[in-house]
Amino acid sequence: MTAAVNGSARLLIIGPQGSGKGTQGVHIATSFDVPAIATGDVFRANISAGTELGRRVRSVVDAGELVSDELTGDLVRDRLSQPDAVRGFLLDGYPRNVAQAAQLDAFLSADGHQLDAVIALNVPRAESVRRLSQRAVEQGRADDTEALISRRLEIYDRETKPMLDQYRERGIVVETDGIGTLTDVTTRILDGLAERGIVAD
Ligand code: AMP
Repeated sequence: MTAAVNGSARLLIIGPQGSGKGTQGVHIATSFDVPAIATGDVFRANISAGTELGRRVRSVVDAGELVSDELTGDLVRDRLSQPDAVRGFLLDGYPRNVAQAAQLDAFLSADGHQLDAVIALNVPRAESVRRLSQRAVEQGRADDTEALISRRLEIYDRETKPMLDQYRERGIVVETDGIGTLTDVTTRILDGLAERGIVAD
């Protein structure tokens, strides 16, 4: 299976914590046969494995704060240079602020590439809080306590929303209603991408 847009698909999925973007991201990446790259998962895996990177980011991640743009950018640039990301990728959780979005543009344009589309997964605040609280019970993540959930949503509003607005100004955002069954939402995303000529074949 190959992805369209000159044989590639360079995608981002953006949504508040609890919007279901992780799950949708994996589905969409599978459809396009590109890797789903979730920076939060990479950080958590390194923390669990006790790597040097894990030791450096642990306290920041556990506090629900953002890891430095420099460290995060280095990690993503390295990941995007791996062979499986040559034809594209779906990024989840990066970029997360205006500075990281500029970093990503620089990484991509250095290879003559650019983003094809940004999937915005829109879920009302009350629903994301409800889903996060449920995940806290199911997965026991250190940053899913009530105080840290509201802290992370606050950071999303302050840092990530302005970045999303910049992508909207560029006209590359696929607005998607994130309420519904898993399959309904996946279908909506794929339809929105197809409307822009981005199809997996
Ligand atoms: P997530 O799974 O996307 O909610 O990410 C979990 C945590 O990993 C965040 O609260 C941050 O501490 C860290 N993290 C993930 N992605 C980034 C990023 N792009 N920039 C900075 N920190 C990040």
